[in-house]
Amino acid sequence: MPSTTGLLRRAAAAVLAAALASSPALAAAEATSTDVKETAARPAPPRASGARVIGDADRTRFVMDLSTGVDVSAFALADPYRVVVDLPEVAFDLPAGVGAAGRGLVKGFRYGLIGRGKSRIVIDAGGPVLIDKAFVLPPVEGQPARLVVDLLGATPASFAAEQARTAVARRSMAEISVSKSDRLPSGLARADRARPLVVIDPGHGGIDPGTVAGNGVREKDVVLAFAAELKKKLEAGGRVDVIMTRGDDTFVSLGDRVRIAHEHEADLFISVHADATPEDFVRGATVYTLSDKASDRQAAALAAKENASDVIAGLDLSVETNEVSDILIDLARRETRNFSLVFARDLVTSLATSTRMIRNPHRAAGFQVLKAPDVPSVLVELGYLSNAQDESLLTSAEWRTRVADSFADSITRYFGQRLAAAAD
Ligand SMILES: [Zn+2]
Repeated sequence: MPSTTGLLRRAAAAVLAAALASSPALAAAEATSTDVKETAARPAPPRASGARVIGDADRTRFVMDLSTGVDVSAFALADPYRVVVDLPEVAFDLPAGVGAAGRGLVKGFRYGLIGRGKSRIVIDAGGPVLIDKAFVLPPVEGQPARLVVDLLGATPASFAAEQARTAVARRSMAEISVSKSDRLPSGLARADRARPLVVIDPGHGGIDPGTVAGNGVREKDVVLAFAAELKKKLEAGGRVDVIMTRGDDTFVSLGDRVRIAHEHEADLFISVHADATPEDFVRGATVYTLSDKASDRQAAALAAKENASDVIAGLDLSVETNEVSDILIDLARRETRNFSLVFARDLVTSLATSTRMIRNPHRAAGFQVLKAPDVPSVLVELGYLSNAQDESLLTSAEWRTRVADSFADSITRYFGQRLAAAAD
């Protein structure tokens, strides 16, 4: 690698390190590559066996049945109006589609893992609401424990007043969760590594299922299976090291995915997704790179959909500010963008040999997850879960192997070219 590039990266990394907060998900990413055994020893989490919404537009109650009592905390968010309930890890054993519809003040709800040992329920409200009570009734006489959240209708003004009243408490909670993760396992810096590092990023997870096909197949599962296959192939090839942003059904925020790549000084970041559209004849894979200006209307709409992941998971976006403006970073960003384009073009050619591609298969839009200024990044939509043929491919082990081979070929070629260029 030319030395100016190395210096630039180091300088940009130093500026960024100061600007980006660390996160618990980084520790999780480190863990997926090293300790797999640890999960076996943990006790089984409490089980959620049922959930329902009762009441009307003045007062609505959310109830979830649990095998044991747990500690919960609840808070409300705006844009859009939501109520977030945090609890320790829970095994959600609920009927499919249970949160799809609501009643009264509640439009619907989602649930799932939000981090290691942490679950979350996000209740979508039709408008501003106040949390009257949130508590857990212990189990009595054969009845399960009950999580109860009582909501009252509010006006935008009374909602805002309540948010202002509780803001200090919420901010100190956010600070605690950041400071806990200060002791990050630091990755080996680029220059000291024997092999390039690839970060594979299976989209969505936990509370955010991504796109769901008509038959219930979920994007988060499809992309995790594919990412695991690709990791296996790359590791077997022995030319690169691999980290996944998630190795199980856990939610990881968009900011944390970017941070994982940046903190480990990754050489390449590949985000893996699957799309859906009401036009069920549309099919094929697409490779996306970052652009301020979307290549077309569909790409812009897709980026908006993928960027909504943090909203779906009930994150408070007002505390996520990490756009850094600095001349060094701008230079690094330009270089990174060129490498992203080189890889994307090769990947499109390579994928065309193993799977169906969409028309104009290289597109661009403003994806949050592609914004690490110092890591070449692409986002791949493997196909459409809304198309029957694509859906059967995406869930087939044979297809996964074939397409992962194409990815591995492209990745090997990309690093081969970079090493050759650096030796000149
Ligand atoms: Zn997605």
